[in-house]
This record gives sequence, structure tokens and C-alpha cells, in this order.
Amino acid sequence: MRNFILLGAPGSGKGTQSDHLVKAFGFTHISTGDIIRDNILQKTPLGILCQQYSEQGKLVPDDIMIQMVKNHLQTVTGDLIWDGFPRTIVQAEKLDQLLHKLNSKVDHTLYFEIDETKLVARITGRLTCPTCGQTYHKTAVPPKVAGVCDDDQTPLVQRKDDSEEKIKIRLAAYHADTAPLIEYYLHQQVLTVIDADMEGPAVWDQIMEVLK
Ligand SMILES: [Zn+2]
Repeated sequence: MRNFILLGAPGSGKGTQSDHLVKAFGFTHISTGDIIRDNILQKTPLGILCQQYSEQGKLVPDDIMIQMVKNHLQTVTGDLIWDGFPRTIVQAEKLDQLLHKLNSKVDHTLYFEIDETKLVARITGRLTCPTCGQTYHKTAVPPKVAGVCDDDQTPLVQRKDDSEEKIKIRLAAYHADTAPLIEYYLHQQVLTVIDADMEGPAVWDQIMEVLK
């Protein structure tokens, strides 16, 4: 069992690359969102606690999260991709301890580095057709007629989550959480920086360099 951690801002493309890795090599994707949902759905004792935290609008505490992760690891085999976990230093340390007990370790951490000015421009320029769901971009992929869908002429809209204000909030939260993790894995000498500004297969090629 090898372990690959993916770190990167929302919109850095790590989700897409993680899907590719699952398809190409049969990696198992560990999503803490899914683990929480499963526990809540199956009404496990930990799931019931999660439900209570979520109803209070609180995050699931680290010790509960790590216990659920531990249980989940007993149901999976093969190489694992960790995406969205660990989110804090405490979680990273607990994950190390957990993997150590399983005679395993974090093998690589891939940090998807992006130019955030470009990221903000990419997201705030996104336009969606409320009728057919087609997406455009004000400058990069504009519709034939400004502001309306090519296929059904519906006026295009910007999703609420794509406003500059919302993105800045998401990025600030991401930095507060992730910056210490980058230090942590750099110190362990398992961190590789992926230039996620590159287009097309160039990002994938960098990942292949690390995994080969
Ligand atoms: Zn449309």
C-alpha cells in the first residue's frame, strides 16, 4: 500500500488528476467527505456524532475523523490517493501514526501550485447557461454572442460561488489550513511541487515523473 497526498487550492485541478490516477492505475481515492456521508448514512456511532456536529454547523473533530479513516482503511486495498485529508498538522501527525501501525507511510505529497491571479480570473470569468448547463468564459471561451448561450440563446449567469468575494474567502481558508502542511511534508522530504498552471497533459506528465 502506497500513499499519495494531493494538496492544492480549490480550482487547482487536483480533483481531475486524482480521477485520472484512479482510472489509469486503479488507485483508491480516499475522500473524507464520502467517509463522513457513509458513516452518517449507516448510522454508525461515529456517524451519529458527525450528524450532531454538522447540525451545529461545526467541523468533525480530528479524533473522530481519524477513527473513521482508520475503520475505512480496513475496507480498502492497493495504493491510496488522499484528497482533502489531512487538512491540519494534527491530522497529518495522526495519519503518520496510523500508517506506521499498518507498516505503511506517506510516499509522496503532490502540491498543485497555481498562479492565484489567473485562478481568480478563470473562476470569476466563468459563465453558465441555466437552461442547458453549458459553461463559457468571458474571455477564454466566449459565446458567439456576448452574454447568451450558443445553443438555446438563454442569458448566461455567473454562479454565486464563482464571485470574486466567495473565491477570496475559499482561498484564504485554504491557505490558513494548507501552508503548515506544505512545511510539514517538505520537512519529511516527500513533497513535490507540481506546476498546475500548465495546460493539457503537461500536468499529468509531471505526476508521472514522480510516480515512476
Ligand atoms: Zn444553453
